[in-house]
Amino acid sequence: MRFDELPIAPPLLEELAAKGYTEATPVQVAVLQASIDVDAGRAYARDLLVSSQTGSGKTLAFGLAVAPLLDRHRTPRVLVMSPTRELAQQVARELQWVYRKIGVKVTTCVGGMDIRREQRALDAGAAVVVGTPGRVIDHLDRGSLVLADLRAVVLDEADEMLDLGFRDEIERILQAAPEERRTLLFSATLPREIVALAKKYTKDATRLAVGAQTAHADIQYLGHLVAPREREHAVVNVLRAHDVGTALVFCATREGVAHLHGSLVERGFRAVALSGELSQAERNRALHEVREGRARVLVCTDVAARGIDLPAAALVVHADLPHNAEVLQHRSGRTGRAGKKGTAVILAPMHARGGAERLLRAAHIEGGWSPVPTVDDVRAKDNERLLLDVGALVGEGEPEDLDVAKALLEQYPAQQLAAALVRSARRSLPAAEELPLTTSYKAAAFDRHGARDHREDRRRNERPRGHDVGEGPEGVWFRVNVGRAKNADPKWLLPMLCRRGHIQKRDLGRFKISRTETLFEVSPKKADAFERSAREPDKKDPHLRIERADGESP
Ligand code: ADP
Ligand code: MG
Repeated sequence: MRFDELPIAPPLLEELAAKGYTEATPVQVAVLQASIDVDAGRAYARDLLVSSQTGSGKTLAFGLAVAPLLDRHRTPRVLVMSPTRELAQQVARELQWVYRKIGVKVTTCVGGMDIRREQRALDAGAAVVVGTPGRVIDHLDRGSLVLADLRAVVLDEADEMLDLGFRDEIERILQAAPEERRTLLFSATLPREIVALAKKYTKDATRLAVGAQTAHADIQYLGHLVAPREREHAVVNVLRAHDVGTALVFCATREGVAHLHGSLVERGFRAVALSGELSQAERNRALHEVREGRARVLVCTDVAARGIDLPAAALVVHADLPHNAEVLQHRSGRTGRAGKKGTAVILAPMHARGGAERLLRAAHIEGGWSPVPTVDDVRAKDNERLLLDVGALVGEGEPEDLDVAKALLEQYPAQQLAAALVRSARRSLPAAEELPLTTSYKAAAFDRHGARDHREDRRRNERPRGHDVGEGPEGVWFRVNVGRAKNADPKWLLPMLCRRGHIQKRDLGRFKISRTETLFEVSPKKADAFERSAREPDKKDPHLRIERADGESP
């Protein structure tokens, strides 16, 4: 439904149109329609309990719904409670632009910021206050925030506020607010405590559940199984292969954030970090860098990133598995916002495959595991992009540049100059990484057992060596002189090796493909016979040499 078909005042419609927003999201339609009897005659309309997935536009939903309660009042008319400082600031920003034409002032009361400055802003008069629970209480205690004229309270991300332990603060604030008020409660999920809170502090709240809690349709999910030791390299390759606008990378701990952030920066990524250990100024700076496009990768913990809206984020990487399906959806919901397409990449350690699959099922995510982008994949993507990027640079050019260009063309052939241009563009790209353990796992799983079950995976991981080849001892390693650079792939290597060595697929074990050669494992019982037969030159592929890789088992 279009915004202009909903009960929204013309100056607000103009701001929405100026921003390019014409279609209301489902939660906006639901909330505005449920608020329809707010008018001059009836200042208080229905209370609402709204559940809707992240990124569905809840901020504008309540922002537009409470707008009729506002004009240029100098005392607070609407109080919005948010779980974190960043979220509060983000909500305030969104309300500021949409209220610009109606001249309503929005101010924030958030922990970590200068309290006297907030006090002065409140004294100067603000009709809308957005705050975090602790700081709002501080202002109530100091008398700098007076709720006597309040017409509405909005609890944004209520489940998150309860999770963060703000129950007492929230209850105190709700008790301090005038009885005659509208209460709007928003929550991604509706656990029992939220329903109980709503029962206690709202009047016959209408329950709106918008959209089924299924996987987000605008997010494409990709899952990669990685060797734990190569997790960081996998993150690098994923970021490089997808190289799209802004990316968010989630880690389980602050230490994890600091470490990964450091190593991404070292590799030449424009990355910033967001975690609890940073000062408020540092956090603001990090977010600013990303919003301005100076940083392209934000490495963060769950708490630090809850609800943060970065409209350009096209990629979310789960560098560590989230704790549960809800967190998975929250994190992934940072992309695919308001109808835009996004990609969420889940990196799961091989040994945690079973748990990861349960997690994906719980989040209603379908599809299987796919291989991590390799050095070659990244290179192929780069080549496509370089063609476009360098092409986009071609144009008329400044006279000064043209002079230099002419001089260069007199000295060098055009093709070499173009190649130099490509090389220089390539130089700014962080290098992709080799993932020998991860890729060899993929090969073995793929060839020998197809979709193996989790139990088998766990066994395999506990006994990482030698158990692919029957149940016997360590296999014997051989090498063949073809590597990734020449498209080595078990798909064609397997039949070739069986043919040349007169063995069967089940006699082959792990593969380890590097750039120029491939190591592979042969059952010890067959190794000698294999060696004799495979040594014979072959008419079909005379360049492939197969030999024992003594003492080189990886
Ligand atoms: P939620 O609180 O539900 O997670 P937000 O309110 O943060 O979602 O909105 C997510 C993003 O979608 C914001 O960037 C917002 O400006 C944008 N947005 C909201 N409503 C619309 C709309 N009707 N059309 C286009 N974009 C919208
Ligand atoms: Mg929100």
